[in-house]
Amino acid sequence: MSIELNNPSNPESVLSVRTQNSVLADLRDRIAGAVYGPGEPGYDAARSGFNLLADHRPAVIAVPANPFDVVEAVRFAVDEDLRVAVLATGHGPGAAADGALLINTSHLDSVSVDPVNRTATVAAGVKWGPVLEASAAHGLAPLLGSSTDVGAVGYTLGGGFGWLGRHYGLASDAVRSFDLVTPAGEALKVSADAHPDVFWALKGGGAGSLGVVTSMEIDLFPVATVYAGNLFYPASDAAAVLRRFREWAPAQSDELTSAVTLMNFPPLDIVPEPLRGQSFVMFRGCWSGDIDAGKDVVDEWRRWKTPEIDMWGELPFAAADAISMDPTDPMPAMVTTEWCNDIADGAIDVITSNVLPRPGAMPLILFAEFRHAGGAIAAHAAEAVNDRGRCDEFLLEMGAIVPDPHVGLAVESALRLTRRALEPYVTGAAYLNFTEFEERADRSASAFSEIHRQKIAAIKTDLDPQNRFCHGTVLS
Ligand SMILES: Cc1cc2nc3c(=O)[nH]c(=O)nc-3n(C[C@H](O)[C@H](O)[C@H](O)COP(=O)(O)OP(=O)(O)OC[C@H]3O[C@@H](n4cnc5c(N)ncnc54)[C@H](O)[C@@H]3O)c2cc1C
Repeated sequence: MSIELNNPSNPESVLSVRTQNSVLADLRDRIAGAVYGPGEPGYDAARSGFNLLADHRPAVIAVPANPFDVVEAVRFAVDEDLRVAVLATGHGPGAAADGALLINTSHLDSVSVDPVNRTATVAAGVKWGPVLEASAAHGLAPLLGSSTDVGAVGYTLGGGFGWLGRHYGLASDAVRSFDLVTPAGEALKVSADAHPDVFWALKGGGAGSLGVVTSMEIDLFPVATVYAGNLFYPASDAAAVLRRFREWAPAQSDELTSAVTLMNFPPLDIVPEPLRGQSFVMFRGCWSGDIDAGKDVVDEWRRWKTPEIDMWGELPFAAADAISMDPTDPMPAMVTTEWCNDIADGAIDVITSNVLPRPGAMPLILFAEFRHAGGAIAAHAAEAVNDRGRCDEFLLEMGAIVPDPHVGLAVESALRLTRRALEPYVTGAAYLNFTEFEERADRSASAFSEIHRQKIAAIKTDLDPQNRFCHGTVLS
């Protein structure tokens, strides 16, 4: 069949051609899972995820029921000359999948834990919640991030910086192997021993660009109980808290991963009463060593200044969602990011003036969080593919909600202008997991040193000469 499907400049014509029943029937014959064309019941649900700003208009959606379906779906894309995009949970959308084959992995939901070898095998559609739960039953923990609602595989392909990061590294460091369906539709097991270059590229560089990962085997760590939580200080203390944090954090043990977060809690029912509609600066984190020693560390903050609310305490790591209190309901969200080696006075001025409320005006930016990195995150940076996107001391994430499409441009420009004002104080490298949409494509290269960029670009050309997987990290 010769239909011009691979023309992103004209998605509408692609869509109209794609609705041809015979083409959809062909894919339906080839896979056990579901197939949806535009306008069919199920199409809208299968193209949507957590971030409601993503508006993918794929020519066809495949929802594989098993890894063989993924192989067949990718081969179908090759036969039909379709671009391919991958969607797991929609927490980190890349460029819109208009006119492409969208592979929705959410039904690949198996997870198993091997407590003897301290590993988990996690399928492409699994969120961190089930991995954490299955691991915690054996006193073990995966290297998840701030939310159990995020997809384990997508998070790991972009690096994966969580509350055990300084102790054990990024999630991508803990991968033993990936099961990959290449852009040619070939199923490969990749590991340090088999296809080591592809394995290296996937560990922090290859979300959505080098094929579909159907499953990964990861290391688990002996973490059952932690000392973790938040100290809430008045928003007016933000500059003082950030200045203290930048001096204090680099001297701490790798058993502590901590952050300072400026947050404007929205006036919504899902926000607990004492926080609703209020702004705070929080010192937050997770100590994964001896509990009493962790309490001593946090007592230094309590002695420095008594917080308005003190929520640090002993916590089962299975309840780690309580640290960041991230939302789980789908929402229209924007994020951006920067790395810095120090939190300069100038950066503190930019952040406080753009994120703290002023009389009569709530800022468009919802939060800014400086995470303390270093530790095992920086220690493993040199050999990692995303070496520039993990080697510095502090990682800044800023985020906003777009409650109404009319303010979308204003929110976007508030984030962009704040980033521009920060330029003198940051390295310019991106942390890929905290980039989305076109920004991910524009800034992908900044996560890699030039030598690593050239190496991953060669791996990409070799695996995907047609650039069929062009909706994720840009590797050219
Ligand atoms: C509330 C929230 C909290 C977060 N907390 C953290 C955090 O603490 N630390 C951190 O590092 N990041 C964090 N993130 C960012 C998150 O890790 C990224 O957005 C990540 O890309 C999400 O992966 P996903 O599969 O859930 O999302 P999706 O949007 O479904 O996928 C994200 C990207 O990964 C690709 N992808 C997904 N699955 C596969 C696969 N099987 N094969 C190939 N490519 C695939 C997709 O093509 C897409 O480009 C957070 C995001 C949110 C919204």
